[in-house]
Amino acid sequence: MPLNVRGIPFEVPSYSLTGDILSYQRCGLQYRYYNGSSLPPSRPVQMWTGEFVHGVMEEAYRIWDLKRDQLPFPWSCEITPWGKQAPPGRPENDIGTLGDLVEARLAAGGKISRSDKARMAAYRRAAAAVNELGPHLFPLVTAAEEKISGTRAMPPTAQRVGRGDRYELTGVVDVISSVRARAHEGNELVKLASAVVDPGLENFDLIVDYKAARRPDQKSEYWTHHAWQVQTYAWLRNQAPGMARVGAGIIVYVNEFAPSSSELEEYVHEIRQGAADVVPEPGSADYYAIHRWQPGAAVPALSLAFRMKRAIRVIDVTDARIKDAVAAIDDVVTEIEASAQAEFQSGSIPKHWKACGDAATCEACDFKHTCPSPAQMRTTGKKAGPPVAPG
Ligand code: SF4
Repeated sequence: MPLNVRGIPFEVPSYSLTGDILSYQRCGLQYRYYNGSSLPPSRPVQMWTGEFVHGVMEEAYRIWDLKRDQLPFPWSCEITPWGKQAPPGRPENDIGTLGDLVEARLAAGGKISRSDKARMAAYRRAAAAVNELGPHLFPLVTAAEEKISGTRAMPPTAQRVGRGDRYELTGVVDVISSVRARAHEGNELVKLASAVVDPGLENFDLIVDYKAARRPDQKSEYWTHHAWQVQTYAWLRNQAPGMARVGAGIIVYVNEFAPSSSELEEYVHEIRQGAADVVPEPGSADYYAIHRWQPGAAVPALSLAFRMKRAIRVIDVTDARIKDAVAAIDDVVTEIEASAQAEFQSGSIPKHWKACGDAATCEACDFKHTCPSPAQMRTTGKKAGPPVAPG
C-alpha cells in the first residue's frame, strides 16, 4: 500500500512591529546580525531602560487599579541603592518598590543597567511619568500589554522572492483605553486626542505607546516610523471583531518628563533648525529658561504643561493615514524578504543587508568595528576605528 507523503509544513512568515520592522528600519545589517544569531546585544542599555520604564508603568497601573482613590498622586520614589537591600517601611506604591520588582525581573533575564547614572535617570523618568501622566492615563486604561496580530497579503514583489502569499504582523500595545467621549471630556489626554478623533465617534479606543526616548524632530525618520507603528497597531486592532474603532493613537515620549542635559542640547539645536514641532511660547517662562540655558549648566525647571506637550504626541489614525502606514510596512517586509533571499543565494550577509544606522545607533552597535559602512564612515569617509578590548 503506498504511504502518503507528509506535506511541507505550512508556514506564514511572522513579523513583529517592534522586534522586526522598527529594528530593521533602525539598521538592516544590525537587525540581521541580531536576528540571525539570537544573541542579545552585549550592552543592552537601551533595552534595559525601555523595558524598565514599561515595567514600572505597568506595575504602577496594577497597584493603582487595585486601590484606586486610596493611593492619591504623587507617589514617593525612594530608590534602593544599587546592589543594596531595600530600605524598610516603604509603601507598596513607592516607585522605588515597584522599580525593585521590575529590576529583579530584568536581571533574571540577564538585563542590567549599564551604570548607576543610567539607572537613576530611568527612575527619574519613570517616577515623573507615573506621577504626571498616571492621573490622566490610568483612569482610561481598559487593557495593558495587549497582544494584537493579523495577516496581510505578501506584496507581489516579495512573493516572487519570498516564502508565501501572506505574512503575519504582530504587536503588543502598551495601553488600550476605551473612551466614552462625554464621560471623559474633562480628561487631559482625551482633550488632546480629540484634535484628530472623528467627531461622529461617541465611543472609541485610544492606543497608547510608551517610548523611553525623547521626542524626535519632525524631519527625522524616527518621527515617521513611530507614527507608522501606531497607525499599523490601529489597523490590526480595527480588524478584530466586536471592538470599538480606534479614534487616535498617543505616543508618550517618557524622557520629556525629565530631560537630560544632552537631550536639552539636542532640542535647542532642533529649535534653531526649525525641526522641533513643539516649541515654548515666546515670552513664557519656559521660553526664557530654554533660550538662556547653556550646555553644561543644570537642566532648568520647565513647567508641567510644557513637558506634557513635549511628551504627548497624538497620532492621526484615519483610514487614509492607516492605508499609507500599512503600505510602508509592506515595503519593509518586501525589503527584508528580498535581503534574506539574496543572502541565501550568495552566502554573503554584509552585501545584502543595508547598513544604515544613525550615529547614535552605530555608537552603541556591537558590530561597528566590522561593519562595512558605520555612520562615522558615511559622514566623514573615514574607516571604522580598530576593535577596542572590552573593559
Ligand atoms: S555599525 Fe551602524 S551601520 Fe553598521 S551594523 Fe551597526 S548600526 Fe548598522
